[in-house]
Amino acid sequence: MNGFTFEDMKKIDRKELGDTVPLELFRTIRLIGMYQALPLGGKGTTLTIGRKIGESLPVDSLEELLRLFEDLRIGKPRIIQQDNNDIRIAVDDCFCKGLPVQDEKMVCDLEGAIMEGALTRIMNRRVTVKEVKCNINGDEYCEYEVRL
Ligand SMILES: [Zn+2]
Repeated sequence: MNGFTFEDMKKIDRKELGDTVPLELFRTIRLIGMYQALPLGGKGTTLTIGRKIGESLPVDSLEELLRLFEDLRIGKPRIIQQDNNDIRIAVDDCFCKGLPVQDEKMVCDLEGAIMEGALTRIMNRRVTVKEVKCNINGDEYCEYEVRL
C-alpha cells in the first residue's frame, strides 16, 4: 500500500452516513482551516495541494476536467473566452456562493490550482491558472484566467 489514488477515494463503505458530507464541512476545511490557519492565506501551500490533486484526477481533456468539477459539485464551470494562449473560465454556483462578501478577497485559489495541475499534466506543458474574480470579492461569479 503506497499512498492513495483518486480511484481509492470512491471506495466508500459507510453503512449509515453514506457518501456525502455537507458543504459547510468543505468550506470549513477550505476557509477556516486552510485559508485562515496557514500563513499568507495559505497561498504557497494551497498551490502545492491543488496541483497535486489536479495531477491525480482521471481526466484527459479540458472538457472532462470541467465536467468533473461539476460532478464533484465544486461549481459549474463554463468557458467564456478562448484564444491561442488564454482561456477564461467562469464558475457559477461555486462552493463559496452565499458567503459574506469581503472586499478585495478571493478565496477559490485551491480550485484554480487543481485546474492548473490537471491541465499541466493533460497538455504536457506549463500552464498557469489565476483566480481573477470571486463571489467573496462581490463579483457576479468566480473566474479563472488560464495561460498556456
Ligand atoms: Zn468561488
